[in-house]
Amino acid sequence: MAASLNKVGVVGLGTMGAGIAEVLARSGLAVVGVEVGDEALRRGRGHLERSTGRAVKRGKLSAEEQQAILGRIELSTSFGALGDCDLVIEAVPERLALKRRVFEQLDEVCRADAVLATNTSSLSVTEIAVSTSRPEQVVGVHFFNPAPVMRLVEIIHTVLTRPEALAVVQGLVERLGKVGVTVGDRAGFIANRLLFGYLNQAAAMYDSGHASREDIDAAMKATGLPMGPLTLMDLIGLDVSLEVCEAIYRETRDRRHAPAPILRQMVTAGLLGRKTGRGFYSYDEPPAPAAAAEAAVASAAAEAARNAGAPLRVGVVGSGPLAVALIGGGLRAGADVRFVAGDAEKADAVRTALEQPAEGGTELALLADCDLIIEAVAEDTSVKRSLFAAVDDVAKPGAVLATTTTTAPVIEVAAATDRPQDVIGLHLPDPAGELAEIAATVVTAPEVARRAAEYLTALGRRPVRCRDRAGYIVDALRVPYLNDAVRMLEAGYADADSIDAAMRYGCGYPIGPIADLDRLGLGHAVEALRALYTESREPAYAPAPLLEELFTAGRTFR
Ligand code: NAD
Repeated sequence: MAASLNKVGVVGLGTMGAGIAEVLARSGLAVVGVEVGDEALRRGRGHLERSTGRAVKRGKLSAEEQQAILGRIELSTSFGALGDCDLVIEAVPERLALKRRVFEQLDEVCRADAVLATNTSSLSVTEIAVSTSRPEQVVGVHFFNPAPVMRLVEIIHTVLTRPEALAVVQGLVERLGKVGVTVGDRAGFIANRLLFGYLNQAAAMYDSGHASREDIDAAMKATGLPMGPLTLMDLIGLDVSLEVCEAIYRETRDRRHAPAPILRQMVTAGLLGRKTGRGFYSYDEPPAPAAAAEAAVASAAAEAARNAGAPLRVGVVGSGPLAVALIGGGLRAGADVRFVAGDAEKADAVRTALEQPAEGGTELALLADCDLIIEAVAEDTSVKRSLFAAVDDVAKPGAVLATTTTTAPVIEVAAATDRPQDVIGLHLPDPAGELAEIAATVVTAPEVARRAAEYLTALGRRPVRCRDRAGYIVDALRVPYLNDAVRMLEAGYADADSIDAAMRYGCGYPIGPIADLDRLGLGHAVEALRALYTESREPAYAPAPLLEELFTAGRTFR
């Protein structure tokens, strides 16, 4: 094995290869870039010049530095140029037969002690390795797009990889200033395995008509993600998304990874996302999805303001943290808020917790003229049902009744009233945040769901709408992903730090899944998973045993 790295080859100078070559040259290494023909080589040079040129424009690089970087990259159309490289990284298109052919060629031209690496996202590194006479010197090195920017590199060893070969790549990743995580050869590795389970489920959620594409994206963005799942798939490319899902499904036979039918249909129809101008969204005509969603919110807000001659009258039943957040938020938004607590002591506690004075007490009659009545009492369906039956007696006709049930379907609470058409579900994934998820049951009047969204907009929230299903949008997409991360940990595939680093530095998550579980509370995850499991009987939604165990023990992951 080469003792130190001096020269590194890159095969294929497309999106990834050019980025990788740039990163290598920036670190001072001599680089040899190989392409199939003169035209492809010209394109590769163009990628390199544009990318470093942008860095110069942004003042991140001087013109001299740019020249020095480009000067360190030798370009060739001959594999022979790779003969004296210590390491070669392959970044040709994601087709196994092509990659195997490239590795056969590399095996012939590269020095016997050279390490051969593949940047594959979803193919088996083992299958690529065994096409050479030196599979023990073959490693996966998975950069993320754009390579010069994204900090994560997944380093993959097979059952054959020699530790020395792995050490060469680990040393390189460290030298590049990237965050390396080393794992075995499983489809999707860490980041794509966890990410695409979530993306595929979001596509299926949209396909099933549970919520609109804008609402699915807005809801997940509100949890701190850089973009919503459907926008992200359009960016990645629906063809690539389909392939990655297929590869993970082939290995796991987990039907949650079987590509959502809509993905395959859109790919067949040539709707590949941003690169073809249309995917889940259309990119040909403005406005862009984010702008469209914001415009929709703005117009809803305007409409609510028009309708609100008098301030909105909101009633909140309950005295816990969620009730206090709802009352406080309503007061800050200028609504006329009253609350009803279980007893005088609890009502006093609510008054103490609020920053502004609010009218409240223990009598449901206080709610008689409210436009919107929100129940935020203990998570016990029988309590919620009897409360709603009583609210039914005092609420004015046409009032919107909202229940915050998360463990039982909204319809169970709605059915306790004589006006189930006026009942919606309301979920605030973060009571201090803006997002408000509104669920309509099979009998909720469409006009009521629309009005509920208007009221919540007037209360300063960002409403998204969905059907009456466990987990609304956010928890239905977030909690299975967190559970998958626990299963990965439990299986010993990767440790908590690697899993968290992969999602933060590879996918731009503000927090890794294991840390996120500790933050959200294990009880919340277990409860949400149980509700999802009860509804769907999907085995993968059953809380991972390790999660249940830590929760029962009153522990956290860290
Ligand atoms: P790309 O199509 O942009 O680039 C591939 C390049 O390989 C092209 O320039 C092509 O001319 C060249 N090529 C084809 N056959 C060749 C051969 N025989 N010899 C030399 N060069 C050859 O593809 P990409 O998006 O850069 O993907 C490359 C690899 O990186 C794939 O395995 C992909 O799964 C993986 N990857 C892609 C991304 C991404 O977001 N694009 C992220 C991580 C990993």
